Amino acid sequence: MITEDKKEEKSLNFIEEIINADLQSGKYTQIITRFPPEPNGYLHIGHATSIHLNFGLTKKFPGYTNLRFDDTNPVTEDTEYVENIKNDIRWLGFQWENENYASDYFDTLYGYAIRLINEGLAYVDDSTSEEIATLKGTPTEPGKDSPYRNRSVEENLALFEQMKSGAFPDGSRTLRAKIDMAHINMLMRDPILYRIKHAHHHRTGNKWCIYPMYDFAHGQSDAIETVTHSICTLEFAPHRELYDWLIEKLGIYPSHQYEFARRNLNYTVTSKRKLLQLVQEGHVSGWDDPRMPTISGMRRRGYTAFAIRDFCDRIGVAKRENMVDVGLLEFCVREDLNKIALRRMVVLDPLKVVITNFPEGVTEMCHSENNPEDISTGNREIPFTREIFIEKEDFMEVPSKKYFRLAPGKMVRLKGAYIIQCDDFVKDENGEITEVRCTYIENSKSGQDTTGINVKGTLHWVSAQHALEVEVRLYDRLFSVEDPSSEEGDFKDYLNPDSLHVITGYAEPALLEAQEGEAFQFLRKGYFAKDPDSTVEKLVFNRTSTLRDNWAKAGN
Ligand code: ATP
Ligand code: MG
Repeated sequence: MITEDKKEEKSLNFIEEIINADLQSGKYTQIITRFPPEPNGYLHIGHATSIHLNFGLTKKFPGYTNLRFDDTNPVTEDTEYVENIKNDIRWLGFQWENENYASDYFDTLYGYAIRLINEGLAYVDDSTSEEIATLKGTPTEPGKDSPYRNRSVEENLALFEQMKSGAFPDGSRTLRAKIDMAHINMLMRDPILYRIKHAHHHRTGNKWCIYPMYDFAHGQSDAIETVTHSICTLEFAPHRELYDWLIEKLGIYPSHQYEFARRNLNYTVTSKRKLLQLVQEGHVSGWDDPRMPTISGMRRRGYTAFAIRDFCDRIGVAKRENMVDVGLLEFCVREDLNKIALRRMVVLDPLKVVITNFPEGVTEMCHSENNPEDISTGNREIPFTREIFIEKEDFMEVPSKKYFRLAPGKMVRLKGAYIIQCDDFVKDENGEITEVRCTYIENSKSGQDTTGINVKGTLHWVSAQHALEVEVRLYDRLFSVEDPSSEEGDFKDYLNPDSLHVITGYAEPALLEAQEGEAFQFLRKGYFAKDPDSTVEKLVFNRTSTLRDNWAKAGN
């Protein structure tokens, strides 16, 4: 009840305010938004904020959101990306109303181009791209008219038809809008609408050898779909004038463009082009490498959709670009995992402990809760035997003052089992401790009355005989500097060389049942998720996150 009220009170972001006003004034009775990915890579955390915004608006207000693939660039696009993008959006928890493709509108767009030519608002230009650039002028100097600017409508129609039928090679001609070569907005200086590209398109095959430019596809597709609020990132603000001009001249549905600030995260790159380089050059195992900021990478690592949505909620929508701390995303992940993760014990760096007063060959079943934050998950059985493993770091020959773990003469509790006392230890010829010898205290099992025994430390442990050997992949941030893209040289020079450590862990048997997509907390070690590389012989776990923010502690 209280949370509901709070939600209501939460102030609207600037886009929600615009929509709210539009609905209240009766300008619209419902709104239509769209998420428009180019299928040339996998979605990343930046896209997640855009998805969350576009779909979130139509959850909050009446209306719906379309998924539109902005597939006007045949060379870099692929159906593999289309399928993964759809999968990622669904996984994030959103459902689109219509699945559209800009390429489905190629015929309509061609018709629009003819309409502009007929109105004297577009012309075929034979200039090379260099000539076009030279004539364009600069922000402070007006451009100059192309020598082809005043062709007749008939000539333009004939040439554009020839462009379409494949009569000309790539780059030899373009179709341009006829606006104003002295316009203060450089994008209004006769922008290119169509270019020639003899390339196979993943949906239209070889039907077309001319393709519309972004500016002649995006707004027009919005209008075809009667999108009311077309939301894009700030770098498109200067395009809005052209967006409006084209809609007005074509007399099509008046969609409106609104801009919000791109979301950038520190220690991360969020550019598909750069992420593609990491994949192609083998710096990561693929788009879904758990270190990647892609949705598929984060999912594989064990991030939850809820945590990502929560993160998007918390950062909100901004008008100005700023860097978001990746620590906030990690915080959201921990918050959610703490609530849902099943607790398990896994020893990552084993030291053998022999309980000398516990009989050989006997297994006693202990019980411990699956998740103290959610008692409905019940308890699990944990086998206890004479020989167990604890972490090496949980034993000190000469303990420091505040060390509450195991040391000669000291007692600790084994989680879910008994209190043990250390009597002795064994060293090898190199002076390394290879075995610790303890006695357990009868009647000290978890749940039994142990008043009078003062034990401060609780350790995780596994029965040596029952331990499963599992592969554990420990990840750290992929980059070692805050903003790898703005550093000198190549962004890849700043890859963190310690972003992956693969070790063997010793797990309690309950982990045999682990499912992909389930969240685990390995006690005292962090949150983990089963990796799809797991086989029947060998389970593989990814560390989703540590229990605390180690970077913040280190002063980073
Ligand atoms: P990239 O630079 O990674 O290729 P893009 O903007 O070219 O990104 P698109 O597939 O064209 O990728 O983007 C689809 C939608 O997602 C667009 O509306 C775009 O503005 C938005 N988007 C992409 N990156 C971010 C980001 N970092 N923050 C917010 N929105 C983003
Ligand atoms: Mg783009």
